[in-house]
Amino acid sequence: MKELLSGNEAIARGAYESGVTVAAAYPGTPSTEILENLARYPGVYAEWAPNEKVAVEVGIGASLAGARTLVAMKHVGVNVAADPLLTFAYTGVNGGFVLVSADDPGIHSSQNEQDNRRYAYFAKIPLLEPGDSQEAKEMVGLALDISEKFDIPVMLRTTTRVSHSQGLVEIGEPKPRSLKPYARDARKYLMVPAYARLRRVALEERLARLKEYSENSPLNFIEWRGRAVGVITSGVSYQYVREVLPGASVLKLGMTNPLPENLIKKFAGEVEKLIVVEELEPYLEEQVRAMGFKVSGKDIVPYTGELDPGVLTRVFTEAGILEPSAAPAAALPEGPAAPGRPPVMCPGCPHRGLFYALRGLKLTVTGDIGCYTLGGLPPLEALDCCICMGASIGAAHGAGKADPALAGRTVAVIGDSTFLHSGLTGLLNVVYNRGSSTVIILDNGTTAMTGHQDHPGTGRTLMGEPAPAVDLEALVRALGVRRVRVVDPLNLAETRAAVEEEVAAGEPSVIISRRPCVLLKKETRPAAVVLAEKCRGCKVCLRLGCPAISMKDGRAAVDPIACTGCELCVQVCREGALLKGVEACD
Ligand code: SF4
Ligand code: SF4
Repeated sequence: MKELLSGNEAIARGAYESGVTVAAAYPGTPSTEILENLARYPGVYAEWAPNEKVAVEVGIGASLAGARTLVAMKHVGVNVAADPLLTFAYTGVNGGFVLVSADDPGIHSSQNEQDNRRYAYFAKIPLLEPGDSQEAKEMVGLALDISEKFDIPVMLRTTTRVSHSQGLVEIGEPKPRSLKPYARDARKYLMVPAYARLRRVALEERLARLKEYSENSPLNFIEWRGRAVGVITSGVSYQYVREVLPGASVLKLGMTNPLPENLIKKFAGEVEKLIVVEELEPYLEEQVRAMGFKVSGKDIVPYTGELDPGVLTRVFTEAGILEPSAAPAAALPEGPAAPGRPPVMCPGCPHRGLFYALRGLKLTVTGDIGCYTLGGLPPLEALDCCICMGASIGAAHGAGKADPALAGRTVAVIGDSTFLHSGLTGLLNVVYNRGSSTVIILDNGTTAMTGHQDHPGTGRTLMGEPAPAVDLEALVRALGVRRVRVVDPLNLAETRAAVEEEVAAGEPSVIISRRPCVLLKKETRPAAVVLAEKCRGCKVCLRLGCPAISMKDGRAAVDPIACTGCELCVQVCREGALLKGVEACD
């Protein structure tokens, strides 16, 4: 039986069929749906960990206990998880362990487009790269088999197109599997220097055996066609190459660390022009060149962004590999360009009030990762920087230490989920090192940007069970912060006053800006109403950046379908031209 599945759904299905019984992740686009789907299968325990490092550590424990284990994260999550991951390669596994790294070429929803194939190489762990949903499902099982056979964690690297595109997938039945027995073995699992040195050598031995496996693996295969052009490729790029160069021979690599050197040499030796087609880094190209072959790659294929058949058609035509007349016809006639739709906070988003207040106070604001990053875009433009999960607090502290004048006018903003992910240590550092930063936790009660996943503050688990919800006020007090207060960000006067007081306090302080995400808790307050006779068209209300407000015939207009009645615009209009819906009815 076949089902239409996205790459993420297929990975979850593959994990279930292959006997995964424990899974952990921190949500992050484009990986999030893997755990959401896996948690629904019987016999699987899945959890949202507070961050990717913890997710890998949970996975290590489960693997040592003998369970087949899957841990998933977006590409930047591997940076957070790298510490346990690199040493886990030394110890090796008990139950099979697969880490799914969902990379994001094109930076659709991330802060960078790092190529995590480099991580697999760096960590000296096997790397599999599926090119569609069927392969994604199959490779999970293969990754677990390789992991157990070679005693090593395996990385399965997807990209956004594979994660989110749908394809037909053959559905199988799960194979019954029991826990592998655990045997205490300090020389294998206790990485003190004396034992780690031994495991370092053992890792090289395992890699040498993996290289042999890669040479003969069905994951790496040649499709012989014409010998004038030979393309080495992997992942989703394989689909594009097949479409754009149907006459070329192709070496499709499903296992890209370690590489099958002999197979590559055989292929390279039999084609006239050798090209590597890969997204992002010249990861394959550099290794093929180091084998002594003249190869084209990033001299013609872009370094940055996603590839697609259109991009490859253009670059192969420009490079003279494809005759202009031989370029495949576009499948569909080009339609009119879609209107630009810059990302924007939802109407009624509680973060809008906070950012409007911060902008008005002309503070320096260090930002963090989440929906509220949108507060940095016009018209709010309230953020000065945004680097990675949890960086806002350290950055505010560092700026204040570098320039005491900045200490009294800098705040860090960080979401509730992000704070629990990696903000705690930054705040502890502010307290310990006698900083005076004001940290604003934007508590909307969910991990909103990735689609409303639970976290330790929501009172629910991924398995749908009630759980203790962390008390943020008590938590930050426990870290040593004495000044802690809660504001409603839809009350602009209260929010402004709280921020002014706390930045002037001269000691660490936390403001919890608390309102549930508007999409999570739909409130049915009547839409705001414009009194046309009072509106003078000053556009102050547009500075909120609410998509429900526009200008029409020189006057403000509110879209009653989009408006949630949050009343922020009512507070900012100095002319009294915007009324609460209820007032308008009176
Ligand atoms: S509604 Fe008020 S703030 Fe908006 S344009 Fe009219 S007068 Fe200005
Ligand atoms: S009340 Fe005003 S700011 Fe709030 S959603 Fe409606 S139009 Fe937007």
